[in-house]
Amino acid sequence: MKALVTGGAGFIGSHLVRALADSGIRVHVLDNLSTGNVANVDPRAVMHIADIRSSETRTLLIRESPDIVFHLAAQADVQHSIHQPDEDAEVNVLGTIYLLQACHEAGVAKLIFASTSGVYGELEKQCIHEDDPTEPISGYGLSKLTAESYIRLFYRLYGMNYTILRYGNVYGPGQAAKGEGGVVALFMERLKKGSPLLIHGDGTQTRDFVYVKDVVRANVAAIRAADQRTVHVSTGRTTSINRLAYDLLKLHGSSVRPVYSPARAGDIHHSCLSNAVARHWLRWEPLYGISAGLKETYTSSMDSGKKGT
Ligand code: NAD
Repeated sequence: MKALVTGGAGFIGSHLVRALADSGIRVHVLDNLSTGNVANVDPRAVMHIADIRSSETRTLLIRESPDIVFHLAAQADVQHSIHQPDEDAEVNVLGTIYLLQACHEAGVAKLIFASTSGVYGELEKQCIHEDDPTEPISGYGLSKLTAESYIRLFYRLYGMNYTILRYGNVYGPGQAAKGEGGVVALFMERLKKGSPLLIHGDGTQTRDFVYVKDVVRANVAAIRAADQRTVHVSTGRTTSINRLAYDLLKLHGSSVRPVYSPARAGDIHHSCLSNAVARHWLRWEPLYGISAGLKETYTSSMDSGKKGT
């Protein structure tokens, strides 16, 4: 089997590429390196530096004709999408359309898409289900939702198979201290520098934090399951930002209190995603709780910090 991973030089993509190569799949990576890094890419993968909106992408897909495409390349910064919604839509909406056209021409059997809990906006619900209303409050949430709609449209028009995975807040080793869900990486960076943790808002806001290795397993499961489904990749549990800060400070052995700044526009207050659909259709469940995931992330981050000094 041959797979192409767009955004394979990024945080989640590079973990996915490694797992695919481990399971004997031939992997090609397509990435413009806007936030990704070639050093993240497993050497067993073939690297192509190109933008998903470029003609090279079309040529590459037709030439390589992969069986499966994992589409993770994106403008993934919520704040950037609020200030520059045009740039966000160009990558996340137009980029996805170009990619879909190329996949269709190349006869790709299935596309697996990295979507987000951001499509729901501020839903007043304890735990969100996939068929709940979508009312994004950022350009990013809207552009991902629109990309999803085009993926479903390509199935209706041309029968192109897909699975849409809506991730919770993904964290783990190798995450850059920016973009969506980067709070764990941001906290880790401040711990390394000896700076106090910075919390936007009062810290009572919650997130459904899902460990990157579990996200990779969900992507791999989607190769042969959940056709034409939209599925949460989440823990179904919430952690407040205050709690996250407390746990990390404890791991670090620090007693420095966090500092607070005003809440930011576009940030959702409460986020919890049911994973019942993933359990049923993907036969997947998360193996990492927040404590185990944070510990592994912390250890790996501090080890790489030591190597760099
Ligand atoms: P990331 O920024 O580390 O990875 C994105 C990758 O896409 C980068 O390597 C970047 O260089 C590449 N890229 C961006 N624009 C491109 C373009 N026009 N052409 C080619 N490559 C391009 O982000 P990540 O956290 O690994 O996110 C991966 C995917 O998962 C994204 O689609 C994101 O929206 C989605 N997602 C992430 C989270 C999270 O918590 N990290 C949550 C929900 C969804």
